[in-house]
Amino acid sequence: MLIASVVVGMTVVALGGGVEVGEPRRFEFTQLAMGDRARIVLYATDEDHARAAAKAAFIRIDELERVMSDYRGESEVMMLATRGAEGSTGARVSEDLFGVLLRAKEVAAATGGAFDPTMGPVVRRWRDARRTGRMPDEDARAAALAAVGHERLVIDERTRTVRLTAPGMRIDLGGIGKGYGADAAAEVLKGAGVRSYLVALGGDIVTGAAPPGEEGWRITVGPGEGQDVLVEWAAVSTSGDSEQFVEIDGVRYSHIVDPRTGLGVVGAPRVTIVAASGTLADATATALSVLGGEALETAKRLGVEARLDPPQGEPRLTDGFPRARGAPFRGPGPAKPNTPPPGFRALFNGRDLTGWTGVAADPPDLIRMTPEERAAAEATAAAEAPTHWTVEDGVLRFDGSWMSLRTVEEFGDVELLVDWKIAPGGDSGIYLRGCPQVQIWDNAVGSGGLYNNQKKGSQPRHIADRPPGEWNTFRIVMVGDEVTVYLNGQLVVDRAPLEHYWDRTAPLPARGPIWLQAHGTPLWFRSVFIRELDAGPASSAPAAGEGVEPGGEER
Ligand code: ADP
Ligand code: MG
Repeated sequence: MLIASVVVGMTVVALGGGVEVGEPRRFEFTQLAMGDRARIVLYATDEDHARAAAKAAFIRIDELERVMSDYRGESEVMMLATRGAEGSTGARVSEDLFGVLLRAKEVAAATGGAFDPTMGPVVRRWRDARRTGRMPDEDARAAALAAVGHERLVIDERTRTVRLTAPGMRIDLGGIGKGYGADAAAEVLKGAGVRSYLVALGGDIVTGAAPPGEEGWRITVGPGEGQDVLVEWAAVSTSGDSEQFVEIDGVRYSHIVDPRTGLGVVGAPRVTIVAASGTLADATATALSVLGGEALETAKRLGVEARLDPPQGEPRLTDGFPRARGAPFRGPGPAKPNTPPPGFRALFNGRDLTGWTGVAADPPDLIRMTPEERAAAEATAAAEAPTHWTVEDGVLRFDGSWMSLRTVEEFGDVELLVDWKIAPGGDSGIYLRGCPQVQIWDNAVGSGGLYNNQKKGSQPRHIADRPPGEWNTFRIVMVGDEVTVYLNGQLVVDRAPLEHYWDRTAPLPARGPIWLQAHGTPLWFRSVFIRELDAGPASSAPAAGEGVEPGGEER
């Protein structure tokens, strides 16, 4: 058996028999994942819907396990030890690995390395010590420590590559992976239209809206009285599980390793973090276990709430830590439509077509026109676009005719977020660099594939569509000609080169407009956000597709 995780039976428990149809009911699903128990609790009116949503979320967690696991020799992060090793030019990694490493590095920097994703070699030594009950050999410990250091994990946002620049360096995502996995599973549940949910991967929990009629999700974080927290749209992580310590020569060591000594933390408190994201909560819980005295200061700086329960003595809490009987902790929840998340800007302003224009003709036809003909065609398209594309209540609506809409600006490497909706039988797509397309349609194949590709990625890996009439969300990452697509939180295309449909013998253009494709059916779009990956200081380097490949083509 290669990679499938053990399914201990996807148990479904529907509580509250005799409820009326249309009333949300509680469903609970459990499965083994990431070496721990994964639990999803959600409220839905329909059992099939609940099951499908939970299944998709578990699939997503399994997918991430294949990326991040340090027990599986063939996981992407394990291969990084050679592919991204010292001396190499760096490894182009999946968006998931890239995302978690970026966050891990941020937390490492913010905690002075108390949390450090490059602790692989040291964690490995310490695991041996825990298993054998013998302290690690001095030389081996020093050698392992020499291979650690988050500053020497080099991440290039522009090329999406990762380099381990210390000899023997290895990544360990044990202190952040479950939080990241819980966040990703929550995205899938949200994408499936579930609002009220809880995802627990071991001690890392991410919640959506409170259960119907309740103030929040009540989560017990400690053994004693009054150790409940009430949260919604928030994450809760606990570190310092009492089962994972080891006692050597009468000293009790944690499974969390102190990067200064290379040994398990002695006297580690039980740490509980309440934060807006599972990724942040998980990594911070690990960091604060190491930090001791400075822990609460660091929590404040990171914008999380923390509770530390030392083995002896009084607990220490940040001021905003949710109390058992106080108000619930509320995370930000879903953003308002057309409000860009941090780092993104809105391409559609929610009011009018500023920044957009009608598509005059397909590129090959435009090329054949004289400059005068082309200018006239473009002027006509610009004038006609607002008769087909209108804005109502912050939503960009298309009348179902045949004029596509495109950005006036051109883009190269981007991360693009788009909400879209179609009617039954609907058909559309997102063109990147003026080339077709990330498919949108009401079709059994599902949306998100690079429909015109002949080699790779023409079909989505999963059907992640919501029914016609409901909103869907794309997250599209394009670097060079490679495109990754998430639909409603599910990974549907993983780094497939977009083929140049207009001229299959030519490389894909390095820049171009983004189109919303007309295909004779009504369409709705909103929340169109962009982050330019090739902007900023690095943009003086050659543009993607212009001979940046090793031994790349001549120009
Ligand atoms: P768990 O939920 O399994 O207890 P934690 O979030 O507490 O996991 O993280 C513990 C794991 O993190 C260890 O098993 C190891 O893989 C890794 N780790 C240990 N020490 C550190 C550290 N200082 N920084 C980053 N990761 C660490
Ligand atoms: Mg952790």
